[in-house]
Amino acid sequence: MTHLNTLGKSQIPIQLHSGEGPLLWDKSGKMYWDFYGGHAVTLIGNSHPKLGNAIAEQAKILSFCTTIAELPIREKAASELCSFTEMDVAWFVNSGAEANEGALKMARKHTGRETIVAMKKGFHGRTMGALGATWKYRDAHLPKHGSTRFVPFGDIEALQSAMDDTVAAVILEPIQGVSGIIEPPPNYLKNVAEQCQQHDALLICDEVQSGVGRAGVPLLSKSMGVNADLVTLGKGLAGGFPAAAVLMTQEIAEGIKPGEHGSTFGGGPMACAAILSTLEIIKTEGLLAQSLQLETQIRHHLDIDGVLEIRGKGAWIGVELSCPAKPIASALLERGVFVGTTGHPNTIRLAPPACMPECGVLVLKKNLQDLLSTYVLKVSGAAK
Ligand code: PLP
Repeated sequence: MTHLNTLGKSQIPIQLHSGEGPLLWDKSGKMYWDFYGGHAVTLIGNSHPKLGNAIAEQAKILSFCTTIAELPIREKAASELCSFTEMDVAWFVNSGAEANEGALKMARKHTGRETIVAMKKGFHGRTMGALGATWKYRDAHLPKHGSTRFVPFGDIEALQSAMDDTVAAVILEPIQGVSGIIEPPPNYLKNVAEQCQQHDALLICDEVQSGVGRAGVPLLSKSMGVNADLVTLGKGLAGGFPAAAVLMTQEIAEGIKPGEHGSTFGGGPMACAAILSTLEIIKTEGLLAQSLQLETQIRHHLDIDGVLEIRGKGAWIGVELSCPAKPIASALLERGVFVGTTGHPNTIRLAPPACMPECGVLVLKKNLQDLLSTYVLKVSGAAK
């Protein structure tokens, strides 16, 4: 018996064993600079001792409690999260996909409408409902024509023509993550919000990847001047403990009856302890400011030959190369620098812990410079 992705299907050839702050070690003791962040999860760093203690202490006091009973630590986590993100109400679930399922259901319930407008190349998760609004991975699993209309991300005219009075909601990532850290034109999100208002449709911002400090702010959508009706969070919300959330307005929350939506494990005591601890670490260690500082360092140091564009915000950066990203990412891994790739073939994705020091960025720079110059030599040699 084995786990599905270890049936010879692992995408990277290392066996990770331990981590601390911005560093990881594999089973053989080899060290890696973690620019991958567990897939944009570990903003607070690997194996933060305060997070470990918070989860362990809660497990000793009350390890689990049903969601049909009130739980003070759940109320506290919801209230801290709402004040951090300036939203009215939080509902806890277990994964980003589940958060999006919930948000889509709530939007349909609230509006009494069915159509969802989503973005080409957007990513919202792999469960059936979330997959319905996801551009990739759907073909093998869903009928081609469901109740989702896809429009190109960043094209406000295409959105205008997709809007009518059957649209329950527009769902989008404020910056598209999985497809390559793709930024929309200035004011795009504001224009989308206006379109939603004009058609009485709701706006769902999927901040599973960008939220809770990853982009250097509590919510990226708010920093773009938009108050979405529903915002989904996941990834770094609990520092790596499985937890996600749907944030919503009071008005939407009031329309949801008990039992209409639920989740056995969502908002369990250990998850809530982890959420509270993560928010406290972000605040007390100044991780929003650190993420922004890291962005400045990355933009400065990676302005090198062979890098065409640097996109993104905070500790969430896409580096577009003049060559395919996958071989470069594999070679970096061999040299002890762990980066991600994206749906954009030439873009590497950096989502490191906010505590990544400048010397780590310089290690990335040196190795990337080496590899890019070798690649350019090889390509120009082959052309002769
Ligand atoms: N939404 C976005 C923007 C994501 O990047 C992801 C995962 O990468 C998801 C949703 C799905 O989250 P999960 O894998 O926790 O279900």
